[in-house]
Amino acid sequence: MENEKSKILIFGGTGYIGNYLAKASCLLGHPTYVYARPLTPKTTPSKLELHKELHSMGATFVLGELEEHEKIVSALREVDIVISALAYPQVLDQLKIIDAIKVAGNIKRFLPSDFGVEEDRITPLPPFEAFLDKKRKIRRVVEAAGIPYTFVSANCFGSYFLNYLLHSHEKGDDIAVYGSGEAKVVLNYEEDIATYTIKVANDPRTCNRVVIYRPLKNILSQLELISLWEKKNGRSFNRIHVPEEEIVKLSETLPPPKDIPMSILHSIFIKGQTVFELREDDMEASRLYPDFKYTTIDQLLDIFLVNPPKFAAAAFE
Ligand code: NAP
Repeated sequence: MENEKSKILIFGGTGYIGNYLAKASCLLGHPTYVYARPLTPKTTPSKLELHKELHSMGATFVLGELEEHEKIVSALREVDIVISALAYPQVLDQLKIIDAIKVAGNIKRFLPSDFGVEEDRITPLPPFEAFLDKKRKIRRVVEAAGIPYTFVSANCFGSYFLNYLLHSHEKGDDIAVYGSGEAKVVLNYEEDIATYTIKVANDPRTCNRVVIYRPLKNILSQLELISLWEKKNGRSFNRIHVPEEEIVKLSETLPPPKDIPMSILHSIFIKGQTVFELREDDMEASRLYPDFKYTTIDQLLDIFLVNPPKFAAAAFE
């Protein structure tokens, strides 16, 4: 499929991770289609700019709502691969995409909007568990429908979480450390997540498999991350430990949906993202594509030092 340059349709291609996916798809030479909501007078200038940018890179927009079944079926009939990067509140709306894939009958691979923890192998605190249950439901429906799939566990979006963890240096010398700070997390640069995803979407080896993005040089603890950041900055920071009990309590007492980020913080930074070992038969992205030079966390911090991301990881602020 790789040599024939499969045609890829992306839902959520104008979103945070979706725009990296759409760009990677164009850059890797795939005819790329983005199913996006119609523009309105309320569309922000930055969103308009992104539409223009993707268009200039060669992406074809199909404008429509997720309720427009016929429109989605027609769009699907033009392509080979479907990647969804819809936002979390739209996770169950992917049932509409699945229904359309069943009708179209030509889709060779579907990647639903996972892109985080490996949801079938962890049991987090209840608010995050309920969040993951919806993503698990989508996986089970895809499997039951016999749609060829790849499920992606991308672990942490690197810039997104570095910004969250280290941004505080601008306000002062304090950096929050969740729990002991020793649990290992996996921080992958968004551009690499996107490139890996386009590769796995086209790879016969990854059909009906889960692929975990856990490159060795991107695994580190919060404390190691802060030390590395201090060296690069020539500064030192106060590590302000937020005890595990405090995060657990917040996840129990904050009203929904504010309880979700707390339980995500607990899962990622206190329990860590290497709570389960990779088995010999697990598919890990950097092992699948050893020739691809992924951005290491060290290199990502260099990028971050010169050009800090402008966005904030809003859900966690
Ligand atoms: P996002 O930027 O919030 O939005 C993604 C897309 O959803 C956008 O293109 C948006 O369209 C579209 N959308 C929103 N509301 C819609 C609606 N009512 N109808 C149709 N489309 C709608 O999403 P994201 O943060 O990239 O998240 C994508 C996936 O990554 C999710 O599964 C999320 O859980 C996961 N995630 C992972 C991490 C990590 O660190 N691993 C971090 C964050 C998120 P517009 O462009 O028109 O607004």
